[in-house]
Amino acid sequence: MKMEQLSNDVWQPLQVQGIELRELAHRFGTPLYVYDGERIIRQYEQFARAFDPSIRLSIKFACKALPSLAVIELLHRCGAGVDAVSIEEVFLARRAGVPPEAICFTPNCVSFDEIRRGVEAGATVNIDDLAMLERFGHELGSSVGCGIRINPHITAGGNPHIQVGHIDSKFGISILQLRHLLRIVESYGIRVIGLHMHTGSDIYEPEVFVTAAGVLFEIAEHFPHLEFLDLGSGFKVPYKPGDTATDIAEFGAVMSRAFLGFCERYGRSLELWFEPGKYLVSQAGYFLVEVTTVKQTVSSLFAGVNAGFNHLIRPMFYDAYHHIINLSNPCGKPRIYSVVGYICETDTFAWDRPIAEIRQGDILCIMNAGAYGYAMSSNYNARCRPAEVLVLDGKALLIRRREELDDLLATQRTLSQAEQQMLAAV
Ligand SMILES: *Cc1c(COP(=O)(O)O)cnc(C)c1O
Repeated sequence: MKMEQLSNDVWQPLQVQGIELRELAHRFGTPLYVYDGERIIRQYEQFARAFDPSIRLSIKFACKALPSLAVIELLHRCGAGVDAVSIEEVFLARRAGVPPEAICFTPNCVSFDEIRRGVEAGATVNIDDLAMLERFGHELGSSVGCGIRINPHITAGGNPHIQVGHIDSKFGISILQLRHLLRIVESYGIRVIGLHMHTGSDIYEPEVFVTAAGVLFEIAEHFPHLEFLDLGSGFKVPYKPGDTATDIAEFGAVMSRAFLGFCERYGRSLELWFEPGKYLVSQAGYFLVEVTTVKQTVSSLFAGVNAGFNHLIRPMFYDAYHHIINLSNPCGKPRIYSVVGYICETDTFAWDRPIAEIRQGDILCIMNAGAYGYAMSSNYNARCRPAEVLVLDGKALLIRRREELDDLLATQRTLSQAEQQMLAAV
C-alpha cells in the first residue's frame, strides 16, 4: 500500500493538512501533542448544523477537555463560547478573548467565594447545590440571574452504559428536591434564567437524552424568567474502528423537534445551549511519542516510549482504548505489543495490541488525544510536560512550548542556611 493511500484512512493518519506527522515529531521533538485545527472547525460546524436553524443555538466549548488558549481562540472564532468548571477556566477564556456573556460557569463543590468571582467576571453561573443557591439568594438576591443544574435521574433500562444522573451522583440538584428548590428561589427572589443538565454519559440513543431533557421541559413552567436551557454534553466519539458514536445529525433532528415543541408550550423561544468538549477536540488530537526500547520478556513484547501516564492518563485512569499506529513503519508486519510508558509504576498505553512492527527510535501516534490528554497531564516523576502544536491553514504553530526543569523549580525553593540549621537540630 502506498503512504498516501494509508494517510486517507482515518485510523491510519500519517499527515495533518498535508504535513507529515513524523516530520512534526522531528521538528518539535517528542513527546508532542498535535491538534488538527481544520478538524476542530469541522466538528464544530457539524455540531452547529445538526440543529434546526430556527433555534438560537449556543455551543459552549467545555474547555476542561483542552484548556489551551489558541484552541479556545479558534473555537471562539467559529462561534463557540466556553463552559468553565473553575474560576481559573473563566479567566483562561477571558484571556483567549471570549466575552463574559459567552462564558458559562458550572462548578461543583466550590466555595461561594469562587461563585461570586464568577459572577463578578460576568459569566453565567449554573448552581448545582441547594445550600449554595440559598447563599446566592442571600448575598445577591435578584440582582443577577443564574442557571440551576438539575439532576434528572433518568436511567435507561437495559443498557448500563446509559446512566443519566444516577441517584448517588454528587452533581446537580435532584429533581426530587424540586419543592425545596422552588421555596429557596421564591423566598430570596432569585432570578432563574436557565436550567442545566449534564449527564456525563455517552449518548448512544438520542431518545434517552431527549427523555432526560424532558424533565427540564416539565419543570420549566415553574421558572417564568428562563432565557436558556443548557443540555450539557455526553456526545461520544469513536476511539477505535467500528466504535459506536453519537450520530450528531440524528440527535440534532430529534432534539430540535422536542425543543421546538417545548418552546411552543412554554410560550417563548429560549436559547438552546450545549457544552461539548470531547466531541469538538478528541479526534483532532495526536500524541506523538518515540520508542525508547523494544523489550522482550518471558511473557510479553513491550514497546517502551518516552512518555507515560503523566502525559496521557486515560488508558490507566479510565481503562480507555486509544488507537496506536507506528508512523515510522506503517506498512510493517503487525506483531502483538504492550505499549508502555517510562513512569516508575505500571504505566500502560495499550495491552497486547497488534501494531506494525516497532523498532527502537520509531515514532508512534496515539490517537484521540485532543480531549483530556494534555489537560490531565502532570509532573509526576518530575517529568516535564510536552509541547503542543496546532496545525492551521497548513502551518504548524507551536502554541505551548515544552516544559523545562526550571518550570518545575519555579514554584519552590531550597531551605536557607538558618533553616538548614533547624534541620540539623531535628
Ligand atoms: C466535562 C463537562 C462537559 C464536557 O463533557 P465531554 O464529555 O467532554 O463533552 C460539559 N459540561 C460539564 C459541566 C462538564 O463537567
